[in-house]
Amino acid sequence: MDRLKFFFSRYKLPILASPNAQSDAAPREGALIKVVNALGRVGYGDLHPWPEFGEGPLSEHLRALRELRLTPLLEQTLWMAKRDAEARARGKSLWPTGVSLKNNFLVTDALATPVASLLAEQQKGFEVVKVKCGRDLQAEAHFVNEVAAQTRLRLRLDFNAITSAERFEAFMMKLTDTALQSLEYVEDPCPYDAETWRGLRSRAKLALDQEWDRADFNKERRPQCDILILKPARRDVDSSVDLALHWGLRLVVTSSMDHPVGVAHAMTTALELKKQHGAAILPAGCLTNFLYEPNAYSAAMPAQGPFLQPVPGKGIGFDALLESTTWTDIKSL
Ligand code: MG
Repeated sequence: MDRLKFFFSRYKLPILASPNAQSDAAPREGALIKVVNALGRVGYGDLHPWPEFGEGPLSEHLRALRELRLTPLLEQTLWMAKRDAEARARGKSLWPTGVSLKNNFLVTDALATPVASLLAEQQKGFEVVKVKCGRDLQAEAHFVNEVAAQTRLRLRLDFNAITSAERFEAFMMKLTDTALQSLEYVEDPCPYDAETWRGLRSRAKLALDQEWDRADFNKERRPQCDILILKPARRDVDSSVDLALHWGLRLVVTSSMDHPVGVAHAMTTALELKKQHGAAILPAGCLTNFLYEPNAYSAAMPAQGPFLQPVPGKGIGFDALLESTTWTDIKSL
């Protein structure tokens, strides 16, 4: 690794829609990372920490990169840069052809979303809506019931493990039969505990995302869930796919509400996995650019209904934008 050269370009993403119940409205900070190897090959990745979820601020990760001390987040940033560099060196795009994969529509704040607006999204081709829950369970249960009554959308609910098993069960009791039938799965309903989650699985299919590390599963120890949420920006892809296939779990690939460069890495990974594993890969969760003010990168990767448009160019694309970006040598930090 000491033969690699690292450059960074800090960015800020001003928020248009509140991303979850825990985060404030300050612009989100991250950095694009450019890696040049000994052969002069160039690849690009994204570095987008979520300090409120225990990942530490951006400056810590940049300092760690300068000292070649890789945080788990940086390992994935460099994984992105490597796959991008390999594709660029071969003159190939990372956007696969002959495969398509829809994304879910994301509702980060149910209390601020008219149900009628989801009918319009359904008409654009969305089949699945993901609702971030945990601000006001009463109002959110009402919202979910209305979505189920007024649309044909399948529902993914994400509690980010901020509620208790008891409060989650009380929430489920408020749902109508139609809403229960419309549930695709519930993500991180409460902090992971094998016995608790085993019990909750009789109520709904469960998905592991932020609670993955707490679940601490492997090929000998089965996780009490039905679906794994794979964020390529935060977790090794090959070993995650291996574990999912081993236990017969479905996979949902999502972005990390990060920069479009990170989103492009997540979406191209999702498409590649869809091509390889078919039905095991469920609709993705990579349509998150709308959370932020538009920028040149998001404009280059527009959505068409539930689909993200492939970005022209080599690797993940954005060739001209990345070349014209001002890069700072990590050694100058
Ligand atoms: Mg989640």
